[in-house]
Amino acid sequence: MALTDFPRHPLLYGPSPVHPLPRLTTHLGGASIWAKREDCNAGLAYGGNKTRKLEYIVPDALAKGADTLVSIGGYQSNHTRQVAAVAASLGLKAVLVQENWVDWPDCVNDRVGNIMLSRIMGAEVRLDPSGFGIGVKESWTRAVEDVEARGGTPYPIPAGASDHPLGGLGFAGWAHELERQERDLGVFFDTIVVCSVTGSTQAGMIAGFAALEEAGGRPRRVLGIDASAKIDETRDQITRIATATADLIGVRRPLRADEITVLPGWAGDRYGIPVASTLDAIRLTGRLEGMIIDPVYEGKSMAGLIDLITTGEIPTTSTVLYAHLGGQPALNAYSGLFPH
Ligand code: PLP
Repeated sequence: MALTDFPRHPLLYGPSPVHPLPRLTTHLGGASIWAKREDCNAGLAYGGNKTRKLEYIVPDALAKGADTLVSIGGYQSNHTRQVAAVAASLGLKAVLVQENWVDWPDCVNDRVGNIMLSRIMGAEVRLDPSGFGIGVKESWTRAVEDVEARGGTPYPIPAGASDHPLGGLGFAGWAHELERQERDLGVFFDTIVVCSVTGSTQAGMIAGFAALEEAGGRPRRVLGIDASAKIDETRDQITRIATATADLIGVRRPLRADEITVLPGWAGDRYGIPVASTLDAIRLTGRLEGMIIDPVYEGKSMAGLIDLITTGEIPTTSTVLYAHLGGQPALNAYSGLFPH
């Protein structure tokens, strides 16, 4: 089977924008930097990388007659906010387990940003005291059972829409979309920098680029920047999803070890807690480009990109694409970091 054989329910405006970041490029004095913007890819509650993944999951939910999407994430989960938006737009219900993934002192952490948006969109939000973890949680299984007990038809979506048979397809599609944009723009991105936690964003890209390479495309590097601070779990999940997705879309060869690169160094000690390099990256990107990134995910991957360019690990001759995956609503819960 090929990617085009899988049903897709359009949720995005169309291809997400690709544009250069000229002032950041000049400031760092190395490789040429561009961004592809999943943070403005859809009109559904600000969009983001999960909206793209859900394009391939929604047809399965509808085919199964679901009336309720059930998912899980942290209090400030971007993923559950996007599930709430997609459910609302389809006329379905959403039940969201929101765990205490980040021990963050801001007293409005469970009130503003993503969680507020999910409430506005009519989702049933269930606060749960459990900590961070990307695996299957009992609270999520219970929520699915509760919907059944009420006579509903639940459709379970795991954290980050990742550990799902169709979870990698959205970003395999992103790889194909990028290749078309490159042809239109007359540019080739030899290096992609992407934030990884639950893994199917990077895994989908890896599978998509493997399919393109098999069809004669030029090889390129996909550099995942870990933001989970549990890199072994994240790398295992990426390997598993990339392998399964490549198989699903008809890649005939096994993936090479060098195709699965997840780098430590910018996550800090804990998921969701920004470190100095995260805050520096947020300010620099905002002040040079007017591009907003968040302290949980994109601030960490941008800190990685900055260091990889300034150390020469990404050479001056490279053209780099920063995959902006969204996540800005969470900034509201971190206002204490930016008092002036
Ligand atoms: N960036 C943002 C804004 C996210 O919401 C997420 C979600 O976890 C990620 C990056 C990481 O993507 P993934 O979970 O697919 O690895």
